[in-house]
Amino acid sequence: MSTIAENIANIRARMNEAAKKAGRDPSEILLCAATKMNDADRVKEAVAAGVDCCGENRVQEIQAKRPLGAYTGKPLHFIGHLQTNKVKYIIGKVDMIESLDSEKLALEIEKQASKQDLVQKVLVQIKISNDPLKTGLAYEEATSFLEKISTLKHIQVKGFMCVATHTEDMDLVAKEFEAMHSLYTKMKAIYPQIDTLSMGMSHDYKIAIEHGSNM
Ligand SMILES: *Cc1c(COP(=O)(O)O)cnc(C)c1O
Repeated sequence: MSTIAENIANIRARMNEAAKKAGRDPSEILLCAATKMNDADRVKEAVAAGVDCCGENRVQEIQAKRPLGAYTGKPLHFIGHLQTNKVKYIIGKVDMIESLDSEKLALEIEKQASKQDLVQKVLVQIKISNDPLKTGLAYEEATSFLEKISTLKHIQVKGFMCVATHTEDMDLVAKEFEAMHSLYTKMKAIYPQIDTLSMGMSHDYKIAIEHGSNM
């Protein structure tokens, strides 16, 4: 087995463990590989080894690797901060934008998706940590933001994404994930198409799974 396949098998096993510990069905939790900074061949290895989706945070990397078939067979997600002037390069090329965090960005996605006559799936990124360098919509604004953009015909909100505070304080991380799960549950009751809560990275995914993450 290749190292990439081994690593993925390992992570799956630990995800399953965390899910079982939380009394959840492991099959409802998707593994998204942050393929950024890996070349097309390595991404293909990860896809072949069975990750559920790929995540990229730079438009140029998508433009370089997508024509090489790097993501073929799995959905591609945009996971980084997205500048409004870059939206036109990724609409029609990514399955999900996980980083919608402003009305201005929503209007540009609507415009470009409308041009291509498609509906762009998005996650609203919430700034759950107090880190001033982190991007995302304020937690308190989520309800009114969703209401506002619900009129946009070419955007479908599938849920939320967040990056927790980078800290050794795992109680704080758990608290942040818990708050996100509560928001997710509330919004899902209003917007039935919401089904994705994307949270947890290499160092905190087990805590995220224990608190309701499904990606
Ligand atoms: C790179 C990246 C990740 C993955 O981080 P790891 O620590 O390697 O798991 C997750 N989310 C976003 C937004 C990223 O840019």
